[in-house]
Amino acid sequence: MFDDDYALEDQGLEEQALEVLQRVFGYDAFRHPQQEIVNHVVAGNDALVLMPTGAGKSLCYQVPALVRAGTGVVVSPLIALMQDQVDALTELGVRAAFLNSTQDFARVREVEQAFLSGELDLLYVAPERLLTDRCLSLLDRGRIALFAIDEAHCVSQWGHDFRPEYLGLSTLHERWPDVPRIALTATATDATRVEIAQRLGLDNARAFVSSFDRPNIRYRIVEKNDPRRQLLEFLTTEHPGDAGIVYCLSRAKVEETAEFLSAQGIRALPYHAGLDQAIRAANQSTFLREDGVVMVATIAFGMGIDKPDVRFVAHLDLPKSVEGYYQETGRAGRDGMPAQAWMAYGLQDVMQQRRMIDESTGDDAYKRRLGAMLDAMLGLCETVECRRVRLLAYFGQKATACGNCDTCLEPPQTWDGTQAAQKILSAVYRLWKERGQRYGSGHVIDILRGKKTDRVTQYQHDELSVFGVGADLSEKDWRNVLRQLITQGLLAVDHESYGTLALTEDSRAVLKGERTLMLRRELAKPGKTRESSGSKAKVAVNLPPEAEALFTALRAWRGEVARNHGVPAYVI
Ligand code: ADP
Ligand code: MG
Ligand code: ZN
Repeated sequence: MFDDDYALEDQGLEEQALEVLQRVFGYDAFRHPQQEIVNHVVAGNDALVLMPTGAGKSLCYQVPALVRAGTGVVVSPLIALMQDQVDALTELGVRAAFLNSTQDFARVREVEQAFLSGELDLLYVAPERLLTDRCLSLLDRGRIALFAIDEAHCVSQWGHDFRPEYLGLSTLHERWPDVPRIALTATATDATRVEIAQRLGLDNARAFVSSFDRPNIRYRIVEKNDPRRQLLEFLTTEHPGDAGIVYCLSRAKVEETAEFLSAQGIRALPYHAGLDQAIRAANQSTFLREDGVVMVATIAFGMGIDKPDVRFVAHLDLPKSVEGYYQETGRAGRDGMPAQAWMAYGLQDVMQQRRMIDESTGDDAYKRRLGAMLDAMLGLCETVECRRVRLLAYFGQKATACGNCDTCLEPPQTWDGTQAAQKILSAVYRLWKERGQRYGSGHVIDILRGKKTDRVTQYQHDELSVFGVGADLSEKDWRNVLRQLITQGLLAVDHESYGTLALTEDSRAVLKGERTLMLRRELAKPGKTRESSGSKAKVAVNLPPEAEALFTALRAWRGEVARNHGVPAYVI
């Protein structure tokens, strides 16, 4: 059907592209900016395509591969999805195949033979496979219509999807300088774009950047109090029976959360890289094929998943970057129908992420970059502006207030938190000055609230002048204030010494009263006042559940050191 001489017919290439779209794929028209991209590549030029998830990137290389003579070679990191993609194309009558590590040798030979005889329109290859001598020499002997490099952000060492094999893909251009290349990704900051272009040798490629707005997604970020309960309430009241994804940071939390939801009668399945391959594949396929399944997953799940009716994406933990957040939330509402991006976020997230950065292996520049990425994410969480405006601004795009996100619907109140900040900062200062010690937030809050815990009495911290000066705010309020001080760089968390708090350069101006500090109030739930929602009631353990887990992990990790050096382990 797609003979090599098809491309030689005396028909404008643009008309041919439209004809392929309609006849083969059954669509009436290209979506903007598909047509421009297709024409550009069909004519033999390189392209760098940055389009949000669900916008239709695949057709940007599939159509040109069919129009141009030879086989379109598609580099994709998603071995698990190659079969699905090839099946879908085969059903449309496109001659497609893949080469990856899941095949036996006989099948590999068949595919190679088909390629060599010009019987393939599209050939999907995993990057590590493509770069083998066998595959490179195979490609030398056949005819290549184009190279498509899908999920091109995998080449970025700063991103969370980094695949070292992608770095080798720059050789494609050196080896086949005349074959057009098209790199595609849903990641769009200038930094990533520049990095992709550099690493893939696409400096002269034309970049196609489309709007990253996902108008049908409602963004909401709530303050984390009792995350599982909050999630359950969100699911049962707003998304009963809906398909969705719940992202957690750790594998253990994925499993716990999936079990918890299942016990509550919700059809929830776990997915993370530590699960057996067969279980992962089965859960993924259930999620894709059946209605109303909730996938509880680490970020190992989702790339390339084309499920149109995902109605919500929930985050129980803070993503490491705005790009990650955007990619993950972008899996909601690909059918254009209303969908929600919901996240529970709290002080512990900030502490945990900062700790992970401090403990990561890498030089200072690397850590600074991770820190800057985290700061941008925190800025999105703490903003009092429209979330959509903030999100798109991160990608260098302008928007007007959407009227649909949480901050638009219920503008956050702010309050003058200068005094509260001064109380915390002076408590930290006095503990250091008068007692020569640093402590974590739990203990500092106890002192401010005037709680005579064992630790407080043991170290006579009730004799400090700051003891009890903060009894007017609840523990929850104090955590809220602390979180904002940390995200604003007014307090530092020293993970080298058990998550203790320390003043920063910027703290001084606040302490001296030279700076007023407007803080964001927690959004009061309708019908509840801040007083009644605050935890003024007795608090047995001064740690939220998720901090308790962190505490345990930290304790295990550094237990030895603490014991040997007699350091008070007031973690967080
Ligand atoms: P992306 O790779 O950008 O996330 P896909 O290529 O998987 O997106 O496409 C998402 C969905 O949009 C697919 O179901 C695809 O069939 C559909 N689609 C893409 N282009 C068009 C079009 N021009 N007309 C109608 N549907 C389209
Ligand atoms: Mg895609
Ligand atoms: Zn908004």
